Parts: sequence; structure tokens; C-alpha cells
Amino acid sequence: MDNHRIVLANRPTGLVDETTTRIDIVDRPTCGDGEALIKVGIVSVDPTIRGWMNDAPGYLPPIGIGDVIRAGGTGLVVESCSPRYSVGDIVYGTTGWQEWAVASDASPYAVLPKGMGVDLPTVMNALGMTALTAYFGVTDVGAIKEGDVVVVSGAAGATGSVAGQIARVKGARKVVGIAGGPDKCVEVVEEYGFDACLDYKEPGLRRRLHEACPAGIDMYFDNVGGEILDDVLANIAMRGRIVVCGAISQYNATPEETYGLKNTTMLIIRRARMEGFLILDYVHQFPEAQMELAGMVLSGQLRHKEHLVEGLEHAPEALNLLFSGGNHGKVLVVVDPSVTLE
Ligand code: NDP
Repeated sequence: MDNHRIVLANRPTGLVDETTTRIDIVDRPTCGDGEALIKVGIVSVDPTIRGWMNDAPGYLPPIGIGDVIRAGGTGLVVESCSPRYSVGDIVYGTTGWQEWAVASDASPYAVLPKGMGVDLPTVMNALGMTALTAYFGVTDVGAIKEGDVVVVSGAAGATGSVAGQIARVKGARKVVGIAGGPDKCVEVVEEYGFDACLDYKEPGLRRRLHEACPAGIDMYFDNVGGEILDDVLANIAMRGRIVVCGAISQYNATPEETYGLKNTTMLIIRRARMEGFLILDYVHQFPEAQMELAGMVLSGQLRHKEHLVEGLEHAPEALNLLFSGGNHGKVLVVVDPSVTLE
């Protein structure tokens, strides 16, 4: 049996195009001692994948030319040669963009509980990496406090939409989103319950942030970096916290094109801090956070949207949706719709 995989063919400059990846057909892997064979159901599409395509130092090694595109995914255990897994388990791990994957002791997968009352796309979104990123970014790095005025960029996206809602649950007085275009801003207010949303594609963001948050921004959850971050810096409150989660506006830029911040002296004037983080550092705290997130989903406190793309072959185009803003919610590629959590 074949395994269709998407591999890196050439390192991109700017956006991924048809020369960046190719479909490779190899034999389906087999299950060795201490391993399990996984039929991949859904794979994740994340901005960080674009960074892994560069031959540059990062928090993980670059994807090699000819290697399968690294990505999180869920799948069904169809064969197990390990006491960790049983046939029929639904598991989450680094499947990569391919139809078949192998879980091993060296790269273990998490076995997902069944009967939670949520489907697989929901688990990958509202209980998955982006939601966990939002959770720890807001609660730990941002140290949310009762009465905070919170601003979130990428507010209609997977991480941002959850970050704003968690901030609200944790006591924020006001939650303001930043998103691209009027439709997304309506979505952020009406579907995710933010108090307001500012369209960064319209001029005067710095002034509009001041109008929305006249006493300053206590916590900024930054998904985009660049000029928007500068506009927030200009409006940061005394002892404000900037959670540097992502900088998607910069991921396709060459070093010459990278935006240089102008307003960092505001950190001094307002005794504020900016701190980056990686979700990988919180792995041991995931189960507890996922319990809380599940409770929020089931009680209706956490609204979520999945942007499903059908077919493994469409994964590279799906990656570009994140940069064009063509996505509404968490982008997931359905590789095999027969893999479900029910
Ligand atoms: P999203 O679902 O938020 O999709 C990305 C969104 O970014 C797009 O929908 C688009 O929204 C917005 N965007 C794209 N280009 C620009 C730009 N030039 N300026 C402003 N906004 C832009 O993706 P994710 O939730 O997966 O990721 C969000 C961020 O979180 C990324 O920066 C990612 O790297 C980061 N992240 C960090 C992690 C960590 O451990 N630190 C873990 C996971 C994610 P719009 O239409 O509004 O422009």
C-alpha cells in the first residue's frame, strides 16, 4: 500500500508556491517493535511551518529537502507493536503532512480520550496547540489580572480568537481585537464576544487604539509583530505586558525587509515588559489546561471555528491562507474523513 506524502522540494522565498513542495509516493511504513502504525486523519496547518522551510536556525531544525513537511496531526492506530497504543486508539502527534505515520517511543503520541462530546476538529482547535498557546500566553506570560484592558492581534484567527475569550473568562475588563477587514472584525465581536475590533487595514490604527483604550493597554497578545506592534507600544499602559506569541507579518520577509520597531522606548517610559514564549515549554501542563478548555467549550464560554480543507494535496495552499488572511479560524487539512473520535 502507498503512502502519499508532501515533501519539501525547494526552500521558498516569500510565500510557498508550486515549486516549494511535491507529492512523493512511498511504501506505507511498517510497525516495528515499540511502534504503532497510524492512519492519519487530520493534519494541522501552522504559520511556523513556513519558518521550518527556511535553512535558518530556529527552535527546531529546518525541514530537510526531500523530507516530509513537519506538522501536528491526529490519526487512528491500525497496528500496534507497543503497549502504549491499542488498535482503534485516536492519537495526536507529529504525523507530518502524509497519509501514514509511525508513533515510536522516541516520538510518542498522545492517546485522545473518547466520549468527551467533541469531534476531532474541535479537539485539534479548541483543545489543541493554538488554544493551549492562547491559554498559557494569557495566563502565564501575560499574567492576566482582573480588570485588565486587553488587546489581541490576529483576533479572528485560531490563537487570537481563543486568547481574547480566555482573557475575558479570566477577568479582563475590556477585550479589543485587531483583524484584517470589516467582515473579520464583525466576526471577532459577534462570534467571539470581543468588546470591539479594529481593522488594521484602515489607516490610523495608533489613534484608534488610543480611542478604544484611553487609559492604555494592560496586556497585548501579539500574533503579528511589525508595525501593529509599534502602534500598540505607543499605547501601552504603566506596567503593561506584551505577550510575544508570533510575528506573522514578518515570516515571509527577507532580513532586509524585516520591520524594525521604533517605539521600544515606551517600555522604559511605562515600565512595561515584552516577553516571548514557545508552547513547547508547557507540555507537562497540557492535561490540566485541556481540562479547563474542555469545560469552557462544553459550557459555551469558548467559541471556536475550524477552517477545514479537504485533501492532503491542498495542504500547501492551505498554508498560504494564513498569510493572505483567507482563513476563518483554525486551518486543518482532512486527509482521511473516516478517522473520527466518535
Ligand atoms: P491564524 O489562524 O491566526 O491565522 C493567521 C492570521 O494572521 C491570518 O488569518 C491573518 O488574519 C493574520 N495575518 C497574516 N498576515 C498578517 C499581517 N501581515 N499583518 C497582520 N495580520 C496578518 O494562525 P495561528 O493561530 O496558527 O497563528 C497565529 C500566531 O500565533 C502566529 O504568529 C503563530 O506563529 C503564533 N503561534 C505561536 C506559538 C508559540 O508557541 N509561540 C504557537 C502557535 C502559534 P487577518 O485576516 O486578520 O489579517
